[in-house]
Amino acid sequence: MSSTAGRGAWTLYLDGANAGAKTPPEDDRSHPKSAKAKRGFSVRRKRSRITTVSALRQTWTVQCLSGQLHALGIHPGDRLFVHTGLRALRLPRRDVPNLLAAYLHVLGPTGALFFPTHTYSYKGEKGSPIFDQDAPCHPLIGVWPELARIAPGVIRSLHPTHAIAGVGAGVRKILAGHEGTEAAGFGSPLGKLQQVGAKVLMAGCGFESCTLLHLAETYAQVPHLRLPQDDVIPIALARRGRRIIEIPQHEMPGCSDGFPKFEPRLRALGLIRDGALGEGHAMLCEMKTLLDAAISMLKENPLGFLCDDKCATCDAARREAVRFVNASTT
Ligand SMILES: [Zn+2]
Repeated sequence: MSSTAGRGAWTLYLDGANAGAKTPPEDDRSHPKSAKAKRGFSVRRKRSRITTVSALRQTWTVQCLSGQLHALGIHPGDRLFVHTGLRALRLPRRDVPNLLAAYLHVLGPTGALFFPTHTYSYKGEKGSPIFDQDAPCHPLIGVWPELARIAPGVIRSLHPTHAIAGVGAGVRKILAGHEGTEAAGFGSPLGKLQQVGAKVLMAGCGFESCTLLHLAETYAQVPHLRLPQDDVIPIALARRGRRIIEIPQHEMPGCSDGFPKFEPRLRALGLIRDGALGEGHAMLCEMKTLLDAAISMLKENPLGFLCDDKCATCDAARREAVRFVNASTT
């Protein structure tokens, strides 16, 4: 695990290399194609306009954001896993640092915050860094995790493709040993968190970002669990001193674009608490009850939560299910 001293992380994004960049970093994978997102890009490109718009918008102080988190059902002492789609929250740049401060303020000294810092460091994967404890997060998981990762006191697990970071009470114990487990498998940080009553927050994003549902796939032993993803070599690359080592990956979390299909039934079961964060929408769930419900749904219909896009990974999963059924009936 790594603990990184503060290096002006927030300033780096707000005023550094990315500020005013021609192509700003992707925020959240759930939003880049939306009309709203496209508008966001055009606003960011015009720095003078950013200043004007920001000046007119509400100031999202730590106190404001803390009030919203509290209203959602997050309390001191909670262990909270967050997925944050920063763009959808529409925080002015000046207020972005207040979000991490608000999470920590609400959770207090006995609570802890966790978030994905995935690098997808698969062999031959363009745009993915070779994993080490300081490797940057992959842009696909959004801007906020990379900003939070380098904040003071944050510790990171050492899984070479799906590292998780945390800050607060007891994070070291939760993150320990991730390099020896599957990304979202038994004994992983997510596996431990659901056992200790943690909550998961989707802030400005939907269930397509919810890594916990990959843990449900593991627990439900869906037929495509060990199926390689399309065009992804199931080997991770990580630095060990001056050497680069190859680490075979057995269970690779696949496509999650179909995961929003869980939402209507989770909602019908009363497992989702809705609220606001910044100017966006947020959903809070208890990890254990969400996981149990998802496992039950996957056992009932293992293919029901694959996506319906033209997706090679999900098509391969469907073929594997047919092969699995044929093999078990002959
Ligand atoms: Zn898919």
